[in-house]
Amino acid sequence: MIFRQLFDPQSSTYTYLLADSATREAVLIDPVFEHVRRDAALIGELGLKLLFTLETHVHADHVTGAALLKRRLASRIALSKDSGAEGADRYLADGDVIAFGMRTLEARATPGHTGGCMSYVLDSRAMAFTGDALLIRGCGRTDFQQGDARQLLRSVRERLFPLPDDCLVYPGHDYRGLTASSVSEEKKYNPRLAENIGEADFIGYMTHLGLAHPKLMDVAVPANLRCGRPDKEDMTNAADTEWAPLSYTFAGIWELQPDWLADNAGGVQVLDVREPNEFTGSLGHIAGAKLVPLGSLLNGTEQLSNDRPVVVVCRSGARSAQATVLLRNAGYTKVANLAGGMLRWRAQQLPVEGGTD
Ligand code: FE
Repeated sequence: MIFRQLFDPQSSTYTYLLADSATREAVLIDPVFEHVRRDAALIGELGLKLLFTLETHVHADHVTGAALLKRRLASRIALSKDSGAEGADRYLADGDVIAFGMRTLEARATPGHTGGCMSYVLDSRAMAFTGDALLIRGCGRTDFQQGDARQLLRSVRERLFPLPDDCLVYPGHDYRGLTASSVSEEKKYNPRLAENIGEADFIGYMTHLGLAHPKLMDVAVPANLRCGRPDKEDMTNAADTEWAPLSYTFAGIWELQPDWLADNAGGVQVLDVREPNEFTGSLGHIAGAKLVPLGSLLNGTEQLSNDRPVVVVCRSGARSAQATVLLRNAGYTKVANLAGGMLRWRAQQLPVEGGTD
């Protein structure tokens, strides 16, 4: 199985990617709106087909990426039938099974943090994705969204603690950067929910947490009740990407393919960040390219105008990727890396100035 734990530092949310390594079918648990590009890039780079996005619950601290991912990757949206959300493709009941390739997740209703909380247990029972029902040495709050401390205690004790002791617990959040726990640890050491703690103690603890409401709650809850579909129809950050068919890599780089540049070189500024001897060397260079070696890029940016997009090139695409980061930090918004650099450009037999065959 393929497994990745992804993080949103804004809300300390974990997103989990699970995929069957044979069929490449995947599911994504609790995607975050702002990271759809990142998650889609990873799914693409791993060669996966996203079947479902799964929500553990209607979140109050971030907006789900479910609707955006559905639009981009044709994934289907699934969450609890008790979530109150509209626009899902599948409403899950306790015990329902979500299949991806030869693997499955079992949906287990674990209400209490919200009325529609669902945990997902892997077929082997080696992993449980507990959302905010069970956190590492903690649990989600129970003071809004039909929260109910007594119900949460029952969910954890009756639906999660009976899992095998070595079952790993992957929570919906962690605010200290801890990544996973296990059922046996939480049974012993969870300061709220450990097996030796009584119901009255737990309810007392939960009614006196004294937490402020999440900052994003008034935005996040209504959006999540629509499965993350934005109010306005425009769901792409079009402004900085509409000028070319850019693709985004998991490394965080906007890339452009050589054949597009060959056809559209007139509308952009081509910036070559190699050293002068490479520019005039055997690979040659793209006609009209401006030479500014990476080391002097930030002194040389006055040669670039901000009204035409910048495509950066080097030998293999590595130095130019770093150059796109520097240029974006310097305020250039329409910047892309030429994928594969001059090596791929030459391999595709696109025209060069200078160079040798
Ligand atoms: Fe939550």
